Amino acid sequence: MKLGVSADFSAAHSLPRYPGKCRNLHGHTYKVEVIVEGEKKPDTECVADFSELKAVVKEVLELVDHRYLNEIIEYPTSENIALFLKRELERKLKDSKLGIFLYSLKLWEGEDKWVMIESAESSATTRGGDASSDA
Ligand SMILES: [Zn+2]
Repeated sequence: MKLGVSADFSAAHSLPRYPGKCRNLHGHTYKVEVIVEGEKKPDTECVADFSELKAVVKEVLELVDHRYLNEIIEYPTSENIALFLKRELERKLKDSKLGIFLYSLKLWEGEDKWVMIESAESSATTRGGDASSDA
């Protein structure tokens, strides 16, 4: 069974190779949706405690919240930010005793644009939203 949580963070980035104004330093409020998969535990009748999962997600987002992403992630497009968060989340979930695995991670850049990565993918990401809008 799958369950998910979502959370926000704010950060700045610049994309020097982008052929538009996103080459300049600017910021976004990003939204992250994390879906995990696991078995329902017989003692709790839950896959995982939402608050425990949220705590893990929060720990990971603290790495990027109110940061200049170019200092943390090489070329921080939404795709590369999603890959970074996926790697950190998978590591933290593995170290936790929650017994759940990352299924997918979706990162919104603003309200109508997102990328999604599934756990089985190593580098491929899906892109949604208006292709002509900001990066
Ligand atoms: Zn941007």
